[in-house]
Amino acid sequence: MTQTATGKLAPNTDQAAGVDAAVDKLTAENQALRARMAYLLEQAERNHSIMTRHQAFDLNIVSAGNFPELVGTILSVLPVISELDAVTLTLLDEGADIRTVMLKLDVVFEDFPDLLFVEEIEALGFDLSAHAVASAPPKPLLGMFDGQRHRAAFPRAPTGLQSVALVPLLRNKRMIGSLNLASRDPTRFTPSLGTDFVEHMGSIVAICLENVISNEMLKYIGLTDSLTGVYNRRYIDRRLLEEIARAKRQSYPISFMYIDVDHFKRVNDTVGHGGGDEVLREVASRIKNELRASDALARFGGEEFVVLLIDAPLDSAAFVAERIRASVAGAMIALTPELQLSVTVSIGVAALHPGDIEGDPAAIARAWVAAADLRLYAAKEAGRNRVVSSGPAG
Ligand code: GH3
Ligand code: MG
Ligand code: MG
Repeated sequence: MTQTATGKLAPNTDQAAGVDAAVDKLTAENQALRARMAYLLEQAERNHSIMTRHQAFDLNIVSAGNFPELVGTILSVLPVISELDAVTLTLLDEGADIRTVMLKLDVVFEDFPDLLFVEEIEALGFDLSAHAVASAPPKPLLGMFDGQRHRAAFPRAPTGLQSVALVPLLRNKRMIGSLNLASRDPTRFTPSLGTDFVEHMGSIVAICLENVISNEMLKYIGLTDSLTGVYNRRYIDRRLLEEIARAKRQSYPISFMYIDVDHFKRVNDTVGHGGGDEVLREVASRIKNELRASDALARFGGEEFVVLLIDAPLDSAAFVAERIRASVAGAMIALTPELQLSVTVSIGVAALHPGDIEGDPAAIARAWVAAADLRLYAAKEAGRNRVVSSGPAG
């Protein structure tokens, strides 16, 4: 301090500078604290919003009614709510059972290019050294994105991915697949990061997947014939009604084929019931090979099959029927290399034109099937191994 003329004490310049510096420091600290507060608040709000979005996501996937709905939600909603640049889902599908069933239930896999399948557990890319899964299930793998190493999980990887999380999907300590998350942000997934959040997400996704897949399997079992794997009568009876309504609405013809194996009693007598079953499987497969994806093949019972052809007039259905007849008769069926037999089928075909669809669909379906059956009978009468698509019932 210096004594002034008025006797007042005034800070000397050094002291003044010291006070200014202290004030500046306090102001800076204050600002830093405020910024930090604002940042923390923003983070808290962001976390809250992420939590809310994830809760909505969880509810969404828990209530998905079928496989496409569930997979569609995971693949389209998750990247948005989690702000991720790529999300894929890999399912372990040994023996392709899931794909077979879903195809049968008309799932269009082309709609889900980020749904991937592997046949072996090792292909999921986790450490599965002896007993690892049972005693200590694999943990999510977080780290840098590597185009080479992660190609299987991200075959359509967008450019610039920097970090990934491969989250194992586990049910009762069994791996059912992996949920693969990727970001252009290199700090999004690092090995040092906690995995609780992604593990939680993985367990909900796994439960939903298992649930939906077993429901779809049950649906499939109820609609298919266990011997041949084609649809059963229950399915086709229901489908006939739907297709009759659709054919009228969209104004196109539909056709129905009634196929019966000729002298099948003799086949059973010759090769036994087991051999007969094998013949039925081979006949089903030859019929199927001649059909389009939109056609439906069912085993109506015994050695009888039916085919529903969509948007097909009588002449093109008769043409397909002739191809089926030729395919069954064309090559012997080999039960063993030593035991081969020749089998033929007779086929009755009847078409339904949109203009004729008037009244009760169930009655229309019955009359239509009966018309094809009458023509099948005519084919038998005429000597078997033939197609009849005209005559009785118009
Ligand atoms: P056709 O139709 O040419 O008049 O003679 P068919 O010998 O085929 O006559 P029919 O339709 O009366 O006989 C069908 C036989 O199919 C009777 C039954 O023993 C056999 N069959 C029915 N269901 C099955 C099955 O699931 N497996 C086997 N192996 N045979 C079956
Ligand atoms: Mg029969
Ligand atoms: Mg028969």
